Amino acid sequence: MLRRTITGVMVAAAAAMPVTVATAAPAAAAPAILATQLTYSDSQATQYSSQIAAAVQVWNSSVTNVQIRKATTGQTANIRFIADPGWPRAQLGPVRPGRQVTIWMGRQAIDQGYNITRIASHEMGHSLGLPDVKPGPCSSLMSGSTGGVSCTNPNPNASEKAAVQRNYAGTAQVADTSVILEDAAY
Ligand SMILES: [Zn+2]
Repeated sequence: MLRRTITGVMVAAAAAMPVTVATAAPAAAAPAILATQLTYSDSQATQYSSQIAAAVQVWNSSVTNVQIRKATTGQTANIRFIADPGWPRAQLGPVRPGRQVTIWMGRQAIDQGYNITRIASHEMGHSLGLPDVKPGPCSSLMSGSTGGVSCTNPNPNASEKAAVQRNYAGTAQVADTSVILEDAAY
């Protein structure tokens, strides 16, 4: 009686093995959710290259649904940085592959002492579809200049990260990039 029971269990286990393998295969083959890949160019703002690269790194480590790398020579970048004498400003995204938005790295704010990496990261927030949230604290990236001249925080807060994740979740509408947001200090 006991032997027959054990044998029955072993047969059942052996029979279950191929089934286990069969169910594991489709799971392993499930398509991964790929991040939207964007490119940027700093060729017209080379004096700010290191701060722009730092801002790109901030965003790449803050979100997963979109990733940004430097455009190769001759490649049209999705996000174009231009050094400019005015106030920092940017075309509102979210920019998609095949499209281009511009960020003007305005020297007027830089001359007043605003942190360059925070400016680049804030304007990239606009490229990725975030509006200004002014006035706001330094902990908010999109508070921009209202965070104060002494504010050096280049990192989006939790809600800002979540908004960009939603913008690149695959269901968002293509933005009208004719809107330009200017970040004059006030
Ligand atoms: Zn802004």
